[in-house]
Amino acid sequence: MHNQHIKTPLPGPKAQALLARDAAVVSPSYPRDYPFVMSHGRGTEAWDVDGNRFLDFMAGIAVCSTGHAHPAVVRAVQEAAGKFLHISSDYWHENMVGLAERLARLAPVGEPAMSFLCQSGTEAVEAALKLARYVSGRQRFIAFLGSFHGRTMGSLALTSSKYTQQKGFAPTMPGVTHVPYPNPYRPLFAGGDQGQATLDYIRMLFDRNLPASEVAAIVVEPIQGEGGYLVPPDGFLAGLRALCDEHGILLMCDEVQSGIGRTGRMFACEHWGVRPDIVTSAKGLGSGLPIGAVIAKKRVMEQWKRGAHGNTYGGNPITCAAAIATLDLVASEFMANAARTGEYFMYRLRELQRDFPCIGEVRGKGLMIGMELIENDAARTPARALCDRLVTRAFHNGLLLLTCGVSTVRFMPPLSVSVAEIDEAIGLLRGSLAEALQNKDG
Ligand code: PLP
Repeated sequence: MHNQHIKTPLPGPKAQALLARDAAVVSPSYPRDYPFVMSHGRGTEAWDVDGNRFLDFMAGIAVCSTGHAHPAVVRAVQEAAGKFLHISSDYWHENMVGLAERLARLAPVGEPAMSFLCQSGTEAVEAALKLARYVSGRQRFIAFLGSFHGRTMGSLALTSSKYTQQKGFAPTMPGVTHVPYPNPYRPLFAGGDQGQATLDYIRMLFDRNLPASEVAAIVVEPIQGEGGYLVPPDGFLAGLRALCDEHGILLMCDEVQSGIGRTGRMFACEHWGVRPDIVTSAKGLGSGLPIGAVIAKKRVMEQWKRGAHGNTYGGNPITCAAAIATLDLVASEFMANAARTGEYFMYRLRELQRDFPCIGEVRGKGLMIGMELIENDAARTPARALCDRLVTRAFHNGLLLLTCGVSTVRFMPPLSVSVAEIDEAIGLLRGSLAEALQNKDG
C-alpha cells in the first residue's frame, strides 16, 4: 500500500548505516522485531533518520504515556537538570518526596501508602519480592504462566511468557510455583468460569503440594501483558484477594505495563475494585525517563528497617520530575482520553474483525488492546506467522506495532492519541493485514 509519509525503502540509507554500526558493537540479545531507527518524535508521531514518518502504536513498549517529548515533561526535565543531576537516594530533595506523596494519593491499596523508587520494572519487582519475603518471613511465591515480570534473577523466576527468556539462565530464584492465567478465549479448564477454575487449582495446590503458610505473595498482572493482553474474568482478582486474606498471603499486582492510566484507570486493578498490598510500577510512569516504583501499604513497607534495601539512583531528581509531570498530565487529561479513545479503537477493530475472519478476538481495556490472529478454523489455531508478517508490513506502511502472546498484536499508543490518529492507524492496519494475508514479506 502507499503511504505518502514513507519516502524511502525501509530501512533507508541512513538507517542501514546505523544498523551496521550497531551490529558491530551492541549486544545481539535485544529482541528486536523490525529495523526502526528513530530520529525524533512528537505525540504519537515518530520519524526515522531518513525522514520517514510513522504512527507509534507501541509507544516504546507502553512507556511514552504522554506521547513523545510532551512539552510539559521536557520542561520539567530541563528545569530539574538545571538544578542538579544526582544526589542519591540516601539524601532528601523535593522531587523525590513530591513524587512519593503523589503516589501515596494515587495508590490503589485503600489505605496510607509508601513508595520505594528505582529505575525499571524489573528492579521494582525485585524490590517487591524482597519486601514480601522480609515482612512475611515466608519464602515462596505464586506466579502465572504467561506472565512477564522482568529479566533479573528474581523477577525472571516469575517470568514465563517465552521459554527463550529462561533458556540458559537456570537456576533463578527458587520457590516459585506457576499456575495458569485464566484465558476465556482459550479455556484450559473444561467448561465454566476460567477465573474460578484457576482459583480452585490454587486451592488444590495448597491441599496437595504447596503449604499456603509458606507463600509470601501471589504476584499477578491484573491484565496479562506480554502473555497476550489477557483480561481476566470478573471475580478473578477478587478471588485472589480472598485467597490471600484467608492464608495471610500478600497480594502483589504488577502494574508495570497496565498502570499509570493505560487502561483508563490509574491502575488496572481498580477496574475490579481490588486492593493489593503491593503494587509495582515503571514504564508509563516516567514518559520514557527510566523510573520504577514499589508502592505498598504503609503498614507493610514501614516494616523495612534502615539498610534493608536501597540503591544509588532511586529518586533521581530528573526522573522524578518527569514522573510528576506525567502523573499531572495523565490524571488531568490523558487517563480519560485513554478510556474514551480506547473504546472507539476497540469498536473500529471489531469492525475490521467483520471483514477479516483471521481476527479471532479483540480484547482489552482503555488503550491496552490485543487483537489475536487465528487460522481460519474452528480450533482457533494461533496464526503466529501471519502475526509476524502483519507487524512487518505495518512497519513498512508506517505503523509501529508489537506482538504479545503467541499470535496477538498489541496496541498501546500514547494515552494522548487522537481519534484521527486511530482512524489513520486502522487504515494502515487494514492495508497491512491484506498484504500479510497475501503472504507478502519484507
Ligand atoms: N513487569 C511487567 C508487567 C512488564 O510488562 C515488564 C516489561 O515489559 C516488566 C515488569 C519489566 O520491566 P523492565 O523492562 O523495565 O525491567
